[in-house]
Amino acid sequence: PSALASADPAVAKIIAAEKERQEYTLEMIASENHASSAVMEAQGSCLTNKYAEGYPGKRYYSGCKFYDDVETLAIERAKELFGCDFANVQPHSGANANLAVQLALLEPGDTFAAIDLSKGGHLTHGSPVNISGKWLNPVTYDLILDENSDEYGYIDFDTVEAVCAEHKPKVLMCGYSAYPRTIDFAKFREIADRHGCILWADIAHIAGLVAGGAHPSPFPHCHVVTTTTHKTLRGPRGGLILTNDEDLAKKFNSGIFPGTQGGPLMHVIAAKAVAFGEDLQPEFKVYAKQVVDNAAVLAKSLMDKGYALASGGTDNHLVLIDLRPTDPELTGKEAAVWLETAGIISNMNTVPNETRSPFKTSGIRLGTPALTTRGLKEDVMPEVADLIDRVLTSKGDEATLDAVRADVVELCKRYPMPH
Ligand code: PLP
Repeated sequence: PSALASADPAVAKIIAAEKERQEYTLEMIASENHASSAVMEAQGSCLTNKYAEGYPGKRYYSGCKFYDDVETLAIERAKELFGCDFANVQPHSGANANLAVQLALLEPGDTFAAIDLSKGGHLTHGSPVNISGKWLNPVTYDLILDENSDEYGYIDFDTVEAVCAEHKPKVLMCGYSAYPRTIDFAKFREIADRHGCILWADIAHIAGLVAGGAHPSPFPHCHVVTTTTHKTLRGPRGGLILTNDEDLAKKFNSGIFPGTQGGPLMHVIAAKAVAFGEDLQPEFKVYAKQVVDNAAVLAKSLMDKGYALASGGTDNHLVLIDLRPTDPELTGKEAAVWLETAGIISNMNTVPNETRSPFKTSGIRLGTPALTTRGLKEDVMPEVADLIDRVLTSKGDEATLDAVRADVVELCKRYPMPH
């Protein structure tokens, strides 16, 4: 037995059960992935043991030689991956990266522009329940909400322009948690420049697509870029701050430590280095393209079955089903429960022109990053769409959900976890 199984069978049993769950379910949460064994080995290493407050060469503790080595490696790889000049690899999470940037760029009460959580933004983009909404002054732009428009559900750049003209925000944010379309960073930069805003892209969801060349880069358009490392980048849970501006880089470093964090999670930073190393390999470009190709076929297969998708499709890794036209009674909450019963893991999500509360919602958000890691290609996506359709039309019938569950297990056996 492993050290863990001997020392703590209770925890070992829970971890084993979770491994089994991951093996035999279809992981379709758009923000999740399966990190490699190498990433998990680094994260599970002795690097968890030491304090390394500060930055490479400037630590507040002795004994940091190897911590300097591994953090420098992570920084260099991050810079190469995104083609930029400065990287801070210490944020414990995407939310921490964003908080540090806000501390660096904004004073309490300062105005910044972003999109609301219910329109695809993130809590850290100014939600009233988050520090970004409590201590700063967020103003919001919108999606195109005219259902007759060809661009229904796309970013409404007229509102971006208008909110910047009216409120003169110090910072303009782009980058989202539930937006299925390509982000036009150059267009955002034009507007930012017209109104004297610092342009900030939070590419938490699409960072792996950017790194793999399957989505345009926010550089050179954005002054600052934040991301998580555990979504399409396929690394350990964590955050990352990137910029080309040396003065801003210094501010972000202070914003992380000592501004908002203490000792960095050096075992996680080692795992980030491993993941960035993987992301720099030619195979990762193939992966990123496959994620997008898979999402495109999944979207088409769902639309062929009559489902309405937010923005009418997808350009990236993410598909957002608006359940209302096909089943006005079905909420996102209920659909997610049925899908989980059938072994398809997704999440409820608000949709454009949402009519329900965020606790119920009218949408289901699906993503292809984790399935693609398991080796599913576009030829299997119609089959996945079929499983989803059987669940969403089941009315929650137990026998139907059980039958889909059995088919999901068979599909998972055909595509075993690669590591
Ligand atoms: N920013 C965006 C756009 C996100 O989608 C997320 C997470 O879903 C975050 C930030 C926050 O990342 P974390 O959960 O690591 O704090």
